[in-house]
Amino acid sequence: MTQQGRTVAVVGGGYGGAAVAKALDEHADVVLIEPKDGFVNAAGSLRALTQPDEWAERIFYPYDTLLKNGGQIREYASAVDAGGVTLASGERVEADYIVLASGSGYPYPAKTRTDSTAEALAHFKATHAELAGADRVLIAGAGPVGLELAGEIKAVWPEKSVVVVDPAEELLGGYAEELRADLHGQLDELGVRLRLGAAFDAEPAVEPGVAGTVAVAVGGERIEADIWFRAYGATTNSDYLADGLAPLNARGQIPVTARLNVDGHGHVYAIGDVTDVAEEKRAGSAMRHAEVVAANIIAQLQGGEPVAEYRPSPGRVVLLPLGPEGGVGQVPSEDGPSILSRSAVAEWKGRDLMHSKFAELFNVA
Ligand SMILES: Cc1cc2nc3c(=O)[nH]c(=O)nc-3n(C[C@H](O)[C@H](O)[C@H](O)COP(=O)(O)OP(=O)(O)OC[C@H]3O[C@@H](n4cnc5c(N)ncnc54)[C@H](O)[C@@H]3O)c2cc1C
Repeated sequence: MTQQGRTVAVVGGGYGGAAVAKALDEHADVVLIEPKDGFVNAAGSLRALTQPDEWAERIFYPYDTLLKNGGQIREYASAVDAGGVTLASGERVEADYIVLASGSGYPYPAKTRTDSTAEALAHFKATHAELAGADRVLIAGAGPVGLELAGEIKAVWPEKSVVVVDPAEELLGGYAEELRADLHGQLDELGVRLRLGAAFDAEPAVEPGVAGTVAVAVGGERIEADIWFRAYGATTNSDYLADGLAPLNARGQIPVTARLNVDGHGHVYAIGDVTDVAEEKRAGSAMRHAEVVAANIIAQLQGGEPVAEYRPSPGRVVLLPLGPEGGVGQVPSEDGPSILSRSAVAEWKGRDLMHSKFAELFNVA
């Protein structure tokens, strides 16, 4: 039986939602509303595609080991108001506190396209088979996801031709010049070809991730490939908030205060990619938001004031592995951007893809 006034509904169990649910588990009655049967560590999804035997299972963590006291309802939220969450089934979860953490979507394979771990594993295996037989790979999008995919492909199949196309004139615009030069150097070493400053004239006739005859014109040049992947097009998972708590911005993000309250609602918080916090959308940020919100809700549960505030990182942050041993990274420091060596990128992310961090969060060996 739940105690009066202590129910926290967390909508979405991604990086932010899982972290806040766990942090509050001993202090409140946590109800995690999340349609997936397992948390997906998206940072590992591109390697799950290229090395499914070793990696695919390691990016999924079952929700049933996350919470000791609280529980999961495996459903989508369809509406939220200050007193609770309405589920897609029509049922309602009354709550004293709500944390919106429904994150963002991204085209497969960077994020999965199913809520079932078993189906997602089958998708990675099937796409791996398509990719393994393709000599020439075309990637649309030269942001961190497209470049990371290129690096993972080259780490397994150095002989494959990989071309990355992007309408932007430069790679990772806005990051330090030194990082961008290192990135170009490493991509050259790997033999990844960049075609910047131009987009496809039309989408290939064949679906992304499926082997077939891919032929596109890019800025007057004809490029042929045996498979292509889409590495652009993040979307905010906020349709269910459309007529609710506060007007969403043009990107579908919900406005939050420095304490991460949804504007105008003292007991409703939002964290992670679904928020309008002015920063790059990152798992690391979502998890830091979770710490702030957990501190605020614990204070309120104890009759105190929620005073914790979130301060976005003072500079741009990226960790972009190119395979397990390569890649570039930038983190802010007191003296400006600090550029990471490829061995530091490998150590911080590339080798383990944050597997040990999530094994610990989800209490799995
Ligand atoms: C390939 C790739 C690599 C990345 N690598 C890194 C990295 O190395 N470091 C880093 O910091 N960031 C990385 N990111 C970015 C990171 O994945 C996102 O910033 C992060 O997922 C945001 O976390 P979140 O908790 O806000 O939401 P998400 O992780 O998107 O989780 C949202 C959850 O909400 C659920 N949900 C959606 N709608 C509803 C609903 N209506 N009701 C209930 N539940 C719902 C979803 O099923 C999902 O589980 C990477 C992203 C990609 C695609």
